[in-house]
Amino acid sequence: MKKIIIAIDGYSSTGKSSFAQRIAAELGYVYIDTGALYRAVTLHAVRLGILTPDNRIDLNALLGALNNTYIAFRFNEVTQRNETYLNGENVEQEIRRLEISNQVSHIAVLPEVRAYVDERLVELGKQKGVVMDGRDIGTAVFPNAELKIFMTADPLVRAERRLKELLPKQPEATLEAVLANLQQRDIIDSSRETHPLTQAPDALILDNTHMTMEDQMEWIRSILPKYLNHESNH
Ligand code: C5P
Repeated sequence: MKKIIIAIDGYSSTGKSSFAQRIAAELGYVYIDTGALYRAVTLHAVRLGILTPDNRIDLNALLGALNNTYIAFRFNEVTQRNETYLNGENVEQEIRRLEISNQVSHIAVLPEVRAYVDERLVELGKQKGVVMDGRDIGTAVFPNAELKIFMTADPLVRAERRLKELLPKQPEATLEAVLANLQQRDIIDSSRETHPLTQAPDALILDNTHMTMEDQMEWIRSILPKYLNHESNH
C-alpha cells in the first residue's frame, strides 16, 4: 500500500494529537506533534528571558538562540509516545503547562519562527507515512497531503477534556483558565497573518463533540481505504 501524508488541523484541544497517535499506531506511521515544536521554542525563549510574561519578545535574540537550538522527538518505549527534547533535555511535561499554553500563540505568530519550524516539518514529512497534527499542516506545510482532516468541538467540552488531562500534572488548573486559554489561542491562531488556522477547502471536517475515541476510529477506518489506495501523482 502506498504511504501518504495525513494532515490533521483544527482548534486547540480538540483531541488532534490523541487521534493522530491512534491513526499512526494503526497504520505503522510516524506521528509528528507540530505544536510541540512551537511549545519547545516558547519554553526556550521564556527560559532565556527573551519572551517576557507579558509577551514581549526580543526577536533578534530569539533568532540567534534558535541557531544553536536542537529540538527532537524520541520514542519512549514505556509510555509508547514520542517525547520532546530541547537541546537534549526531556521537556515533554514542561511544554504542556498552562503557562506555556498561554504564551505559545504569541511565538507562533512570528513568520521567522514559523519558517524555522516548517523547515523541520518538511524534512520530517519527506519519507511520507506520517500523521502530523497542527494548525496549518494541510494549508501551508503540506498543501498536497493526500488526506486532510479539520477537527472541531464545542469549546466547553474541549476545556473539560483538557482540564482532566492537566489536573494530575497541574492541580491548580481551573476550568475557567483552561477555557480562556483555548479560546484565546483559537482567536490568535485564526487571525494571524502568516499561515493562520483555517480549514483547507479539501479537508474533511470532524466535529467530535459527541464522539468517543472509538467513534472517531470507526469513522477514519471507514474512509482510509479510499485514500490509501488512491493513485496520485504528488
Ligand atoms: O497543538 P498545540 O495546542 O500543542 O499547539 C500549540 C500552539 O502552537 C497553537 O496554539 C498554535 O499557536 C501553535 N501552532 C501553530 N501551528 C501548528 C501547530 C501549532 O501555530 N502547525
